[in-house]
Amino acid sequence: MAAYDYDLFTIGAGSGGVRASRIAAGHGARVAVAEERYLGGTCVNVGCVPKKFLVYAAQYSAGFQDAAGYGWDVEARDHDWRRLIASKDAEITRLNGIYRRLLENSGATIFEARATIVDEHTVDVGGKRVTAERILIATGGWPELPEKPGVRDYAITSNEVFHLDKRPEHIAIVGAGYIATEFAGVFNGLGSRTTQIYRGDKLLRGFDEDVRDFLGAEMVKAGVDLRPSTTIERLEKTGRCLVASLSDGTTLELDAVLYATGRRPNVRGLGLERVGVQLNERGAIKVDDQYRTTVPNIYALGDVTDRVNLTPVATAEGHVLADTLYGNKPRSVNYHNIPTAVFSIPPVATCGMTEEQARAVYPAVDIYRTNFKPMKHTISGRDQRMLMKLVVERASDRVVGCHLVGDDTPEMIQGVAVAMNAGATKAVFDSTIGLHPTAAEEFVTLR
Ligand code: FAD
Ligand code: NDP
Repeated sequence: MAAYDYDLFTIGAGSGGVRASRIAAGHGARVAVAEERYLGGTCVNVGCVPKKFLVYAAQYSAGFQDAAGYGWDVEARDHDWRRLIASKDAEITRLNGIYRRLLENSGATIFEARATIVDEHTVDVGGKRVTAERILIATGGWPELPEKPGVRDYAITSNEVFHLDKRPEHIAIVGAGYIATEFAGVFNGLGSRTTQIYRGDKLLRGFDEDVRDFLGAEMVKAGVDLRPSTTIERLEKTGRCLVASLSDGTTLELDAVLYATGRRPNVRGLGLERVGVQLNERGAIKVDDQYRTTVPNIYALGDVTDRVNLTPVATAEGHVLADTLYGNKPRSVNYHNIPTAVFSIPPVATCGMTEEQARAVYPAVDIYRTNFKPMKHTISGRDQRMLMKLVVERASDRVVGCHLVGDDTPEMIQGVAVAMNAGATKAVFDSTIGLHPTAAEEFVTLR
């Protein structure tokens, strides 16, 4: 008889947990996975997927306006928020079913309950004790709200924004990271008065400085009210209206306030201290390069380890872990040149080093930059420009960074990431024939 009920018990059926569980089960391991909220985790339910639907919806308003320049007589009347949310919810329900089938078909057992760790081989799942040789923690992250008067009473986070009853007429969005910047584009595009409030002087800390400047300027042109170097000091409710008192002494009357001020590793109440799983200074689970925690048979991956908090990274980590432990295929994740996009309007796409990072590492760096009006907008009449920038290490001629702002750039960056991972030099970019007429052909003509 087996010593444990399962070979692997995964806590959390999000991007990383589902991939690790179904691949491990496919390799013949006896796997159970616990999910307390929604199959598919953050990305499917309150992250990448619903967010992208809202971005698609928001892009139509500019499209309707641009259509006039192309001869269309289109008048966009109002937008039906509830219909959008219902369509989005229906698709998510379909995806929840797909995740369920993926797990079940692989042979994994699903527990739809909260799991906590009792000892290093035992979990409590919905009041039932279950044992496993190995435990995998893939519990993701959770939004973090600052402690300012009224904020925790009246503000919403990305968890709630997908379920609002109606679209706010005036929304304030706090933060300058991925989520805040994406939702500023969403609400502005859907017709809400949108004020983005952030403590720093620019959007998207950590991104290339040219991108940060360029995106801010484009968002202002699109109609977002950007309030840099500003914070909300107090949030109050008067009647049906929220009143935000800002650090510059002004107030705003709002229908909703969305805080997107970062996410914390989701470890609360998991029982980690009982078994000695240690956290780092940011409250994330400490792991080695094999995803082992400080307890040898307990593993962790994805957002709960707070390294690169993106879905494809969590799934890659889950896949590698399962192949290594159960597939006799030890592998590791390639963390170099991870492409990423901010689905703002216009979007940002980036891969590799910023100019500032490259200059700190290499003795000499060459910058190739262009900023132009995309062909589409020559006759749409829209005042929208596009930024493309390559960072090249002079000694090797290798492209070490690529930074883009403009329509379709998230679709462009994946191919560039492949080229960068293959070690492409600027000379390789230059010798590649362009595809005309596209914006992407600028990559091969940058001089
Ligand atoms: P999660 O997907 O968060 O899954 C963790 C799961 O564990 C959850 O389902 C949770 O309910 C469950 N859980 C937690 N504790 C327990 C417990 N004790 N017992 C049982 N179950 C538990 N990434 C991108 O790459 N592209 C994007 O466009 C993108 N957009 C995003 C937009 C938003 C608004 C947000 C919030 C995130 C976005 N992300 C995006 C990030 C992406 O969603 C995460 O990086 C990814 O989901 C991390 O996967 P994970 O498996 O680590 O955790
Ligand atoms: P980010 O870490 O990207 O941004 C957090 C923002 O909140 C920053 O602007 C930060 O300011 C600000 N902030 C933090 N604390 C406070 C505070 N106390 N008061 C005021 N402002 C504060 O977090 P997000 O929540 O936007 O997103 C979390 C992660 O999810 C992302 O980092 C990303 O990994 C992932 N994600 C990915 C997406 C994608 O791939 N398209 C989309 C959405 C999320 P400052 O810069 O000054 O520190």
